[in-house]
Amino acid sequence: MIPLLKIPYKLPKRWYRHLIDLVYPRICVLCSKPIVDSEQESICSRCQMEITPTESGCLRCSAPLPTVHSILMEATAKCFYCERRKWSFRHAYCYTAYAGTAAQAARKIKQQSCESLAMELGTRVGKWLQRHEAFDSKLYDFVVPIPQHWLRRVTIRYNQAEVLAENVACELAIPIRRHWLYRTRWTDKQGTKTIVERRTGVKDSFGCKQKKEIKGAKFLIVDDIVTSGATVHEASRALRKAGAARIDVAAFARGVGAFGNRKT
Ligand SMILES: [Zn+2]
Ligand SMILES: [Zn+2]
Repeated sequence: MIPLLKIPYKLPKRWYRHLIDLVYPRICVLCSKPIVDSEQESICSRCQMEITPTESGCLRCSAPLPTVHSILMEATAKCFYCERRKWSFRHAYCYTAYAGTAAQAARKIKQQSCESLAMELGTRVGKWLQRHEAFDSKLYDFVVPIPQHWLRRVTIRYNQAEVLAENVACELAIPIRRHWLYRTRWTDKQGTKTIVERRTGVKDSFGCKQKKEIKGAKFLIVDDIVTSGATVHEASRALRKAGAARIDVAAFARGVGAFGNRKT
């Protein structure tokens, strides 16, 4: 009898991954090149390396700042943006600057077909927050995502902020409350608006449910991009009005405003 080739019963997981890759190679959703040796499903290791955490950012609003500006800021404790704004949240923690590959990723996760990328980036933001010296996950009772208007939800049924929030909450082991915050009215997309238009466009556009539970609770709001800060400011304001004791913000990317896109 010819002895049968003995195949190990349990192959390491990465071997299965390599076998599947031979038949169905994974393609990076950002650069369209095959994904080789990457733990993540959606983007290649080169694109992953190009999305890096912001090194020097405002401690209050997380705006990525030139080094000289951050040195000056230590004396005043207020960045260019914070000087002009009284935020209703305490701190914003934004993982990366909205530029280059990170901006491409931030635009991609708005598409439902890139939901797995949103999940991976949410996990990445969660892990980064765990390592962040100024962040303490024990301070928060709940994670809440920036909600969509119900009409948008009916037609699209996908909210990238919610997917990010689910993965951030999972990493930090904080309960998520998806529907405590809601949109009171329809707001047009913010992408092409100026700062003033954004602020007036979202003013008083959030409301809260479960006010009894909100009173005295501490929240981490999660959004995909913070640009003018108007959306997270208004969402925080609604929670604050309902009696929340603390509100901070976490996001994947921070727009660079006057240092970059002049529209924002
Ligand atoms: Zn790539
Ligand atoms: Zn600031």
